[in-house]
Amino acid sequence: AKNDGGNAYRFFNQEMNEEAQERLAMHFGLRQALEKGEFVLHYQPQIELVGGNLVGVEALIRWNHPELGLVPPGRFIPAAEENGLIVPMGEWVLLEACRQAVRFQKAGLSRLVVAVNLSALQFKRGDIEQSVRLALDESGLAPELLELELTESILIGDTERVLSTVMRLKKKGVKLSIDDFGTGYSSLSYLKRFKVDKLKIDQSFVRNLAHDVEDDAIVRAIIQMGHSLGLRTIAEGVEDQPVMDRLRLYHCDELQGYFISRPIPAAAFIAAYAPSQQA
Ligand code: C2E
Ligand code: CA
Ligand code: CA
Ligand code: CA
Repeated sequence: AKNDGGNAYRFFNQEMNEEAQERLAMHFGLRQALEKGEFVLHYQPQIELVGGNLVGVEALIRWNHPELGLVPPGRFIPAAEENGLIVPMGEWVLLEACRQAVRFQKAGLSRLVVAVNLSALQFKRGDIEQSVRLALDESGLAPELLELELTESILIGDTERVLSTVMRLKKKGVKLSIDDFGTGYSSLSYLKRFKVDKLKIDQSFVRNLAHDVEDDAIVRAIIQMGHSLGLRTIAEGVEDQPVMDRLRLYHCDELQGYFISRPIPAAAFIAAYAPSQQA
């Protein structure tokens, strides 16, 4: 149909229309899901390499769709970032993760830090300080037990405003980490300006660490640099023992990955990790 001349324009038009309609349907669907409470958080453990202690947990959103079942974030977060719904969605994530962190504490996981992913739009368009303050107040969680995962793209955009916001969050006592470290931006100067606590080494470098000399060199260098700057390091996407052994050799502080556990619902997390198993 694309080649029959006169119809090409109409075809193109129709295609654009379909795309626009899909976007509209997605916007509507996500907003309804938010109102109906169809989003859930799953939790993935973060383990210290020395001693094997559980020290943190990352909260990861899923859409519990009535027909499609559990929809992974890769299928709706990009749309939510495009249409702005990531801002109210992100507020819900913060509050829910903080409330769950308090439940984890009550189940005996007393020093567990809960890490929450933030989107650049929450900094640009939302009032992230207010959202964090609300989540901490309403949940009663100690600020030290909340970690905010920032991407490099957050830290390089609109720097002065972002810098002062990040500083005030830091002053409040919440922890900060840089997610997907090594993939976002070529300048490292922001590491001097933003006093973060932790680097999360991106899984694209970690996964084949034991078989790829370049990945190995990059991961090793990130760990060394992090430590020289006084930062903790965590490797994401650890899927097997050889990778874990390498990370231990390089004195990486923590690991997260399928080798330890996939992200799981809160109840399963408590069943697996809490010393006393009361919800
Ligand atoms: P991310 O923040 O880099 O999260 C890590 C992703 O890697 C998660 O995918 C996790 O399930 C997956 N993963 C963990 N260990 C392994 C492993 O050993 N092997 C492999 N192959 N994968 C592993 P998930 O849950 O599908 O999340 C994808 C992305 O969606 C996240 O990447 C994050 O960018 C975004 N996301 C998830 N939840 C939220 C949220 O609440 N807010 C925002 N803004 N973004 C979120
Ligand atoms: Ca993350
Ligand atoms: Ca990541
Ligand atoms: Ca990511």
